[in-house]
Amino acid sequence: MTGKKVGVIGGGASGMMAAITAAGCGAEVTIMESGDRLGRKILSTGNGKCNLGNRLLNAEQYNGADRSYIRRCLERFGTEESVRFFREIGLLTKEKNGYLYPLSGQAAAVLDALRFEVMARDIRVLYGFRAEEIHKSQGDRKGFFVKGDGRKEFFDRVILAAGGRAAPQTGSDGSGYELAKRLGHRILPVVPALTYLTCREDFWKGIAGVRGDAEISLLEENGAVIDKERGELQITDRGISGIPVFQLSRTAAYLLQKRAEIPVRIDLMPDMTEEELWAYLQTRRASCLEQAKERTAEEFFTGLVNKKLMTLFLKQAGSKGNQSLSLVAEQQMKKILRFCKDFRVTVTGTGNFQNAQTCAGGVDTSQITENMESKLVRELYFSGEVMDVDGRCGGYNLQWAWTSGYLAGRAAAGCSAIDPSAKEKTSFR
Ligand SMILES: Cc1cc2nc3c(=O)[nH]c(=O)nc-3n(C[C@H](O)[C@H](O)[C@H](O)COP(=O)(O)OP(=O)(O)OC[C@H]3O[C@@H](n4cnc5c(N)ncnc54)[C@H](O)[C@@H]3O)c2cc1C
Repeated sequence: MTGKKVGVIGGGASGMMAAITAAGCGAEVTIMESGDRLGRKILSTGNGKCNLGNRLLNAEQYNGADRSYIRRCLERFGTEESVRFFREIGLLTKEKNGYLYPLSGQAAAVLDALRFEVMARDIRVLYGFRAEEIHKSQGDRKGFFVKGDGRKEFFDRVILAAGGRAAPQTGSDGSGYELAKRLGHRILPVVPALTYLTCREDFWKGIAGVRGDAEISLLEENGAVIDKERGELQITDRGISGIPVFQLSRTAAYLLQKRAEIPVRIDLMPDMTEEELWAYLQTRRASCLEQAKERTAEEFFTGLVNKKLMTLFLKQAGSKGNQSLSLVAEQQMKKILRFCKDFRVTVTGTGNFQNAQTCAGGVDTSQITENMESKLVRELYFSGEVMDVDGRCGGYNLQWAWTSGYLAGRAAAGCSAIDPSAKEKTSFR
């Protein structure tokens, strides 16, 4: 038993993990949560199914100023440890293509398992406690005073786990950044990530609802590719969404801080080259023209891309859907092919923090040790999304919450640092 008094600011995924771990190491733990319940965000994760981790974990799935820092942390507490931790607290998991979910398929089960463990370990929870100030105590007793809502609490050590600014409706309003900043920490610019993109064109309402496999590239003015992703594109009435768009959104958000718009190329037929598609269309056109009954342009192009999109492409190529195929000029065919392979749109915005699953940016990790301790203020620790670490879709953000929460909880309680080579022997109970 270390007997340290540890205060955890924020009772989200990483705060609960930190608290449970610190209590498991013998610390006397208090969670200060501004809301009236713990882990509210967890309930909305993975569309209510909670994608809590991924077997394909590696640092490449993360962004942040220092990926090697992220890698070193994940080596200490990664997927295997998380699965084992949850198993030990009574939550079994299942896997689908590497993605990990609770066996019950319910995000509520993840939250309940954590909540019950918080109760089982006698962790004190102060609801409605919004930390507004953290002061390093100047007196004989080393530690911190945390003030909020007219209350003042003293701790030997404090873990700042207040989240970022994404989904503020779940409690994370960005106050964690302010608290860190006032203690001297550098905050790297924070933007919404894992969200949709809005576009300038006026045709979106007409094609909204279309979904399909596509390769999406963010481009420089000169056409050079900045970043690209492939997956299921979803067209909305204001632009583009879906997993590949979510993955690109952090890059887009940073670019849009410097420029008003970003050209985007959408390849709707990524498995065929332009030449292959052209050869196919020519052969098929010749065979259609040989048939006795003439086809319309719309009939000819059926089967290439979604009908709503093809109607738009035909219009933009200056052709009518009911135009006879023999009257569609080669020039128009080439234009339509171009649209299928190189549909250009202009991104002018991203979803806001309310609509983002996470934040890019945050507390600079170069000022934090691998035990999550501040290099500027001794005995202050960080965990979760408040740090400059953001993962791709696929369970990586919750994994960061577990990893950083575990490491912070352990170090704040005064337990020895994890030896990556012996970590499989670690018990979480
Ligand atoms: C819709 C949605 C779906 C998602 N789906 C997934 C998914 O399937 N897989 C995945 O890996 N990730 C997912 N994420 C991301 C993931 O949920 C977060 O990255 C993770 O919850 C961050 O944990 P955290 O503890 O750092 O912050 P949070 O979960 O945001 O918790 C922070 C807590 O601190 C409290 N707080 C804030 N300020 C203060 C203060 N000043 N004083 C006291 N308390 C304070 C808040 O009320 C909150 O309870 C999703 C996010 C959203 C919004």
